Amino acid sequence: MKIEKTDIVIIGGGPIGIACALECKKRNWNYVVIEKGTLTNSLFNYPKNMTFFSTSEKLEIDDIPFISNNPKPNRDEALEYYRRVVLSNQLNINLYESVNSVKKEHGHFIISTNKSNYQSNQVIISTGFYDIPKLLNVPGEHLNKVTHYYKEAHNYTLQDIVIVGASNSAVDAALEIYRKGGRVTMVVRGEQIGERVKYWVRPDIINRIEEGSIKAYFNSEIIEITKNQVIIKTADDIKTLPNDYVIALTGYLPDFELLKNSGIQLSQEGKHSPEYNKDTMESNIKGLYLAGVICGGKETHKWFIENSRIHAKLIAEHIENLN
Ligand code: FAD
Repeated sequence: MKIEKTDIVIIGGGPIGIACALECKKRNWNYVVIEKGTLTNSLFNYPKNMTFFSTSEKLEIDDIPFISNNPKPNRDEALEYYRRVVLSNQLNINLYESVNSVKKEHGHFIISTNKSNYQSNQVIISTGFYDIPKLLNVPGEHLNKVTHYYKEAHNYTLQDIVIVGASNSAVDAALEIYRKGGRVTMVVRGEQIGERVKYWVRPDIINRIEEGSIKAYFNSEIIEITKNQVIIKTADDIKTLPNDYVIALTGYLPDFELLKNSGIQLSQEGKHSPEYNKDTMESNIKGLYLAGVICGGKETHKWFIENSRIHAKLIAEHIENLN
């Protein structure tokens, strides 16, 4: 078995994995970032017209200036920023390579990917949460017309669309599709539009629902999806809606299997929070660190770029003090 040796393996080339790579580069450490998709794969898969809720300086890593046209940057500007950071600093990143397992053996880590094997002294897991959608688990969810990722509105014009969820992503998609001439119905498990929806967007969706431009069923859930219909259970009865596409924006989950198989303890109380020291970001396995939004477990709203970019520095300072 061929093994590539390095000091540090960083798993995930999102904003926080890149921030970790910068810290390694500054210290002249040997490191490699392994990213299963394209650079900043999660951001690449965000809706085409999305705007961040953070202002650009809050998304900066290592104090490298992020200039955007408006205070809150859009997806393209963020892709440009992180791409520039990687290219101009010549960071060592292997793209389209997926980590299958991390094992600690005889004081070293062995990292197996779909392409190679690595041996390192430290591993940083910064794999985010955007790859595994929370499924509805209803008949028909496998149909091609059902997606858990919203990209853009044009293909939904003059179509009957059901959007599941009432968080920021669901609300943005509902408004955009409605404004591009799609017939939008929201199916919402709770009794109202999410309270964390951006304060400048929430009145818009509430008014569109009140005036009837967008239909919404609260306290409701889908029970079946068929080729041309969606069957929902509301607080009062069962309804059948005409339907061309279902966009289920009910959230995402981190890859808990990778964490568990690496030996990281997850809390039992349902949140699946991984165990780590908040001052050093070291997990219960010595030398194995967590960085970025993965740290929240199922609480995916807890960490974001703004408040987790600091993880990179905490980890680097801890490793530095070991040497
Ligand atoms: P990610 O960016 O998700 O990076 C993880 C990377 O790991 C991915 O590229 C993935 O492909 C890779 N990966 C996963 N598994 C493996 C594997 N086994 N092997 C190799 N690679 C792997 N945050 C803010 O601060 N401000 C905002 O305004 C904001 N807006 C947001 C809007 C939306 C629509 C969403 C969904 C999130 C938003 N967030 C925002 C949150 C934040 O942008 C993301 O969660 C951010 O991407 C987190 O960075 P990360 O590096 O921790 O994880």
